[in-house]
Amino acid sequence: MPQEIDKSKYTILIVDDDEDARLVLKMMVQRDGYQVFEAEDGLQALVRFDEVRPDVVLMDAMMPNMDGFTAAEKILEIPEGKDVPIVMVTALNDDASIQRAFQIGASDYITKPVQVSVMRHRIERLVRTRAAEEELRRIIQDQRFLSRLDRDLGYTLDRQRVLNLAMDVVLRRTGGSSVVVGLLNPSTRRLEKIASIGGSSILNTPIRESELLEGKHEYSPAFGQTGQVVKLTEDDDYIQLVIPLVVEANQEGIIIVDHVMERFLNDSDLQFLQQVGNRAAVTLDKARLYERSKAYNEKLDFLHHISTAISSSLNRADMVEMSTRGLPVLIEGTSAFYCAYDRRRQALEVEANFVVVGMSDKPPEIGTTFDMRNDDFMQYVQERVIPFRLSDPKSPARLRAFAETYGFKSGLVLPLVIEMNLFAIIVMGESRSDRVFSPDELALARSMGDHFTVMIQQSELFNEVKALEEVKSEMINMASHDLKNPLLQVKGYLDLLLKTLDVKLTEQQNEFVHRIQAGITRMNTLLEDILNLERIESHATTQLDNVNLRLTLYEVAEAQRYQAELKNQNFSIELDSTDAFLQGNEVQLQQAFTNFVNNAVKYTPEGGDVYVRSRLEDGEFHFEVQDSGFGIPKDRQDKLFERFYRARTPGTEDIPGTGLGLSLVKSVIERHGGGVWFRSEEGNGSTFGGWLPVDKTANGSSNG
Ligand code: ADP
Repeated sequence: MPQEIDKSKYTILIVDDDEDARLVLKMMVQRDGYQVFEAEDGLQALVRFDEVRPDVVLMDAMMPNMDGFTAAEKILEIPEGKDVPIVMVTALNDDASIQRAFQIGASDYITKPVQVSVMRHRIERLVRTRAAEEELRRIIQDQRFLSRLDRDLGYTLDRQRVLNLAMDVVLRRTGGSSVVVGLLNPSTRRLEKIASIGGSSILNTPIRESELLEGKHEYSPAFGQTGQVVKLTEDDDYIQLVIPLVVEANQEGIIIVDHVMERFLNDSDLQFLQQVGNRAAVTLDKARLYERSKAYNEKLDFLHHISTAISSSLNRADMVEMSTRGLPVLIEGTSAFYCAYDRRRQALEVEANFVVVGMSDKPPEIGTTFDMRNDDFMQYVQERVIPFRLSDPKSPARLRAFAETYGFKSGLVLPLVIEMNLFAIIVMGESRSDRVFSPDELALARSMGDHFTVMIQQSELFNEVKALEEVKSEMINMASHDLKNPLLQVKGYLDLLLKTLDVKLTEQQNEFVHRIQAGITRMNTLLEDILNLERIESHATTQLDNVNLRLTLYEVAEAQRYQAELKNQNFSIELDSTDAFLQGNEVQLQQAFTNFVNNAVKYTPEGGDVYVRSRLEDGEFHFEVQDSGFGIPKDRQDKLFERFYRARTPGTEDIPGTGLGLSLVKSVIERHGGGVWFRSEEGNGSTFGGWLPVDKTANGSSNG
């Protein structure tokens, strides 16, 4: 059984100069339900064809003005006519005429007198073919269109663009007057209008999700999970179409098209719209996932940022800034501000503020203060997180006032508390919606509050320690300078006294003088050491020399040779032959090398061995000083590089020193990007070594 077709949708043009013949044909096709138009000759046929665009033409051959063959030929030549079936209906039954008709492109040839049933079947067959062709063409066109839409949608992860594309397609296909997209907002649980074309007032007020799901709303049928387009009657001629946006049984929302002429719509249009809806929904879903993963990445970035910041910078201002930005990034708010709490004045003072790009919040200026005496908010601060909403009368009045003044609808406050003492609060605002924070979000906020508390406290402690260090440096500097002058005076006058003394000193007196002089020398070295260290540690190196490390070490070692020989030590310098250069402070490096070599000579008894070695390896300058001296017991090795630490082992008690040398070496070498190490065994000597990075571009031009 061939499929039923709606014949009223098809038009037939009957062309014949004989009025009776036209009438017969007309009655026949009209009875079958087709729409009929007539023309009296070839010329008129062309005009009518243009007007009505018939689906089938029944064409007589012999007519005045223009014959049927010529007219058929002309129709088939134009683009609109080339696919239209033309049936020649004629009394001519000679071979030549039949031949000519098919040559021109006629679809059929029927000789008069017409046999009604044959004629009806042939027309029906032509109409069917035409319908099938049309359907096929439309399917191909739709397919092409959808694949283009897929491609366009595939290119974009931008929600607005997806919606614009979908709305445009839907409007074109339906000829509606306006289109609106409504999406379900998961936090407000309402269907909200988020895009439209054509200025419709549909969805101007959001619809509650529950109303839609419980079948109480006219749009409820579109939420029945069938995914099918729903038609709603507007009046006799017009309807509204509701296209569901569904992804994997998850309804995102609907597209509503307004003022669509029902008779211009068929099943395939509805199918097409449904497909557009599906595709838009999938792409929206993708866009949402993308946005979520972007936000997630930002959060990860931020967390990473925090952890590096904690370990690298301990600058309080940085920490405050980071905490202020951190909250809106992590909880996805729109702004934040940080207030330090002054306990004495009982006031909050704004120290930092932040607004997410594109948001309209206006947090208070830095320096703004809030008097918190007798403020109801203070009773909440022992809670770790305080959510609030402008519209919720139960929220603390102070916070609702903040919301009103600074343009947010809701938000949360993190009180930063240490040992029951409030020291700051961070206020985060949300200006887009009257948002209710989820338990997860509140938990995250709470744990961020703990982090921020530790971070900020730590930086404050660090700053205090730094300030103390500065005071201490200054005091050491002052003290050593003040001690140096009188010491020089003592030395000067002692020398003078000895020179101008008339009497010869007894042996014992000479011994006293000798001890005084040794004491002065020792005090002088001590002061020098302290000053040296202070100078090096408290001032960053500004002057950079192109230091030839091998040469520097060599010169330093040679300068100590004399001391070693005084103690009958075997003193050996074994440096490899390649020069190594470094941009650094030459004086400091000299001092560092000197300390290593000097210690080895100092802490090795008469007749021992001292080796100074260096080599270039993997782009690093490695140096070491080995001795066969006293060595250091295991339990005294830990603190060796600390200031003022002296191991004081048997045999070394009388060796003069301050315990500052190694700490200076360490700080100088590390300042230059290198490191130090040592190994030592009590009674078996020690090796102290280190490495420094070598500058590959430098060469021997300056010091070499
Ligand atoms: P000092 O002025 O006491 O030499 P240093 O900081 O240079 O101060 O050294 C700290 C301590 O480390 C010394 O007091 C000494 O006990 C130990 N020490 C340093 N170098 C050596 C070494 N080559 N052999 C044995 N002990 C050493």
